[in-house]
Amino acid sequence: MESMVLEAMKDVLETAQEMARQGLVAGTSGNCSARVFDTDLVVITPTSLEYGLMLSEDMCVLNMDGEKVEGRYSPSIEVNMHLAVYRARPEVGGVVHTHQKMATAVAVAGRGIPPILEEQVFRIYGGIELAEYAPPGSLELADNAVAALGNRNACLLAHHGVVAVGEKLRDALLNAEIVERTATVYIMSHLIGGPRIVPFMEHD
Ligand SMILES: [Zn+2]
Repeated sequence: MESMVLEAMKDVLETAQEMARQGLVAGTSGNCSARVFDTDLVVITPTSLEYGLMLSEDMCVLNMDGEKVEGRYSPSIEVNMHLAVYRARPEVGGVVHTHQKMATAVAVAGRGIPPILEEQVFRIYGGIELAEYAPPGSLELADNAVAALGNRNACLLAHHGVVAVGEKLRDALLNAEIVERTATVYIMSHLIGGPRIVPFMEHD
């Protein structure tokens, strides 16, 4: 197999295991993927396999129509969402979907997060919007996530979790961490009078 695909398989495995190490997912929940630039291919984590037991050859290689090109397991249940993001955002090279706690707390409250932190604005490109609820794995959830992302690098999924994207998969993971940090600060700030918007974003 082409070396770029093999490299993407290794990247996806390492990022998936890092998501688990950082507590952004529990059990077999969450998933991540990488686009193989200059090809029609995407590498995504397999469904229902424990992160600690995954090998890079267990990753699923799909084309942009979602057809399996390589891999012995079925792709993650959220494959529709990953492919929809790659179709809508040609510059995106990596997608991470997590069930991280603080951001999900905001999502279950039915809120997004306004632009409150500099690092949030610089990396996510503004507020973190809430995607309307739809069942896991559905095409509707894929559409809702793409709409909530817009041209930004993360969104929340109502009653569910987070989607973060980036030019590379490692950027997507870092963006998921920034979402968690932002959500934590957002919740804590309500204890002492509530958050304020970053000044240069006030009239956005
Ligand atoms: Zn999920």
